[in-house]
Amino acid sequence: MLDIQLEAVSEGVLVTGTVRAPLAGECARCLEPLRQATEVRFAELYNYEQVRGPDSDDGYSLQGDLLDLEPVLRDALVLALPLAPLCRDDCPGLCAECGVQLAKAGAGHGHAAGIDPRWAGLAQHVTANGPDGSAAPETGQENGRGRPQAQDVEE
Ligand SMILES: [Zn+2]
Ligand SMILES: [Zn+2]
Repeated sequence: MLDIQLEAVSEGVLVTGTVRAPLAGECARCLEPLRQATEVRFAELYNYEQVRGPDSDDGYSLQGDLLDLEPVLRDALVLALPLAPLCRDDCPGLCAECGVQLAKAGAGHGHAAGIDPRWAGLAQHVTANGPDGSAAPETGQENGRGRPQAQDVEE
C-alpha cells in the first residue's frame, strides 16, 4: 500500500509518502513465525538531471519526466526492518536446557537446579563425595591405612 505526494520545488520534485508492507520472519528469541506489517514514511528529493552533478552518486534524479520510486521504497523499508524482530516485547525465548518455547511451556517450566535429568544421578554421587569427586576413591584407601597410623601417633 502506497501513499505519495509529489511536490515541485526549485531543484526537482520532492516525493513524500507512506508505504505499508507486510513482513514475514521469525522471532529472534523463540523462532516463532512472525507476520507483521510495517509502515514507513519517506521523503526524497528527485533532482532535475541538469541540476545533479555528473559525479554525484547519492540522491535520486528524474529520468526525463519519470521518477523511479522503487529504490526509495526499498531503502526506506530496509532501514525500517527490525534487526531482531520479536513475537512480543517480553518474549521469554527458549528454555536454555531443553529448547522448549517458554511462552508455551508456561511459567512453571524449569529444571531442578539447572541439572539435566540424565546427570541427576551423577550429581548426587558427586555431592555425596564432596566437591572434589576425583579424590573419593583415594580417600577410601587412605582410610584403611590411616587408622593404624593414627594409632601409632597415639602410642
Ligand atoms: Zn518469541
Ligand atoms: Zn526446559
